[in-house]
Amino acid sequence: MTKTAPEESIVRRFLHYQSDFKLAFAVAIVGMIGYSALDAWVFSQLKPLIDESLVNGKYEYLRMAAYFVVPVFILRGLFNFMGAYTLSWISNQVVMRMRQQLFEKFMHLPVAFHDNHSSGKMISKVIYDTEQVTNAAGKALLVLVREGALVIGLLTVMFYYSWRLSLIFLLIGPLVAVIVSVVSKRFRVVSKNIQLAMGSLTNTVEQVIKGHKVVLMFGGQKLEAERFNERNNRNRQHNMKLIVSRILSESSIQIIASVALAVVLYISSLPQMLEQLTAGIFTTVVFCMTMLLKPLKQLTTVNSQFQRGMAACSSIFEVLDEQPEVDRGTKSLERVKGEIRFDEVTFYYPNKSQPALENVSFHVPAGTTLALVGRSGSGKSTISNLMTRFYSATEGQVNIDGNAIDDIRLQDLRRQFALVSQHVTLFNDTIANNIAYGAKQQVSREQIIEAARVAHVMEFADELPEGLDTMVGENGLMLSGGQRQRIAIARAILRDAPILILDEATSALDTESERLIQDALEKLQQDRTAIVVAHRLSTIENADQILVMDHGQIQESGTHQSLLEADGIYAQLYKMQFKG
Ligand code: ADP
Repeated sequence: MTKTAPEESIVRRFLHYQSDFKLAFAVAIVGMIGYSALDAWVFSQLKPLIDESLVNGKYEYLRMAAYFVVPVFILRGLFNFMGAYTLSWISNQVVMRMRQQLFEKFMHLPVAFHDNHSSGKMISKVIYDTEQVTNAAGKALLVLVREGALVIGLLTVMFYYSWRLSLIFLLIGPLVAVIVSVVSKRFRVVSKNIQLAMGSLTNTVEQVIKGHKVVLMFGGQKLEAERFNERNNRNRQHNMKLIVSRILSESSIQIIASVALAVVLYISSLPQMLEQLTAGIFTTVVFCMTMLLKPLKQLTTVNSQFQRGMAACSSIFEVLDEQPEVDRGTKSLERVKGEIRFDEVTFYYPNKSQPALENVSFHVPAGTTLALVGRSGSGKSTISNLMTRFYSATEGQVNIDGNAIDDIRLQDLRRQFALVSQHVTLFNDTIANNIAYGAKQQVSREQIIEAARVAHVMEFADELPEGLDTMVGENGLMLSGGQRQRIAIARAILRDAPILILDEATSALDTESERLIQDALEKLQQDRTAIVVAHRLSTIENADQILVMDHGQIQESGTHQSLLEADGIYAQLYKMQFKG
């Protein structure tokens, strides 16, 4: 599913992100090259300084140098600011963009994607991988251009004064290039592994934090600590591999350079060379050669940074290239009446060989209530997943008001539903804002209060210090299950969608809460089509139609009364629950 794109195209794509910042790049490059050119120029003044002033005794030259030194350094500072600041600005812009794109992408990916990708890994991509891109976009480029220019500048000075002595550098150039290319391949592999390790690390943390109650109850601390330790260690090992490659490459390049230096010293000692060399030339060439070591070393770490950035880019692009939810629908729909029809619908979840639904057909007239009952895993939730097009039917068709749902624009389709599920998702916001989440237009305070009143939210909100403006805490942890559900019902009331999907709570609530919720639900169902995924039978006796599911098929259908009379599965289930 995830293709590894050829390396070149990743780089090209990464560069594409920079293309909006051409002007900024121009400024940065002028700054960086100016900085290095100035350095090279200062070094080139060594020879006249030594030969004219010290050897020949012309003191004006030293005096001139004294006047120049401070302005030169001020200019150098300015160039440095132009280069370093502008580049950081660009790379932070790029990171921000990629983060935003990833975030938005996650919201547009189909449910099937999220089924298969752990949230910890996805969080790590948004937080960690994007940050790695700065290495490539900023730091690497800074060193590449600035130190690259310095290398060229120093070589120019050397060749200008003594090309014979400098020639040796042309020999070691290709050697350095070979080392760099070998090392860079290694870096890319290791960086990729570090990302994966980071992803599984965040994943473990996330699971333990989310499931901390389970960990506490089942005494899973030791197991989780061991698991974390193993992944933590793996992450460290990969980092060490990266460091080893970096150190080895740095040292080997320095050794090669030292050989060059030795050769230069040897050649200089030959009588015919000694004749030509002045003190200034010799000092300048040897000085430039030593000065070359630092930028050369930095140029090799550039590669590690750039590779790390590219590995991060490829992990980001992988997600960006995922297919978003397909929406071939073109029909726009205003509010539907709410008639639903399933025509011989068969559905397989991705990568499953058993169908979750097989040949399911039923018809729900607008404004009526359909209850789905059956063992867990029998396909009840799958029916609601197909209606909202979280997944698409493998065979057969789902119709709403006579329109095939695949023809309806996704946005228009989903607007027709309000979902009250047993897993109520609340955002870390006030009760009022949670109720208003997803409402079509700006809703007034009065409307929110009205919805809260009908859903019996006011009963507990009034007792809270700030009423409806009380923060609910992360995922509503401050509230009881029943209270959370009443907020979800208020949300659905405010959304005022023609079709309601109720995924009932499996766990029994206290009778008071249960009565309030039941009352709120009844009000919510008035004049709406309702699909109730029922886990307990007591609440669906008034449903217009009940489907009894098993193994993805409809086994029985009818009303409560007719099903009891038929004395089949439903009657059995009913007796069982009644006894319980
Ligand atoms: P119910 O709601 O009746 O408990 P579901 O509709 O959730 O049952 O599940 C029906 C079948 O589909 C089960 O066998 C379940 O394992 C499978 N299933 C449900 N969700 C997924 C999913 N996201 N990916 C793969 N298989 C799934």
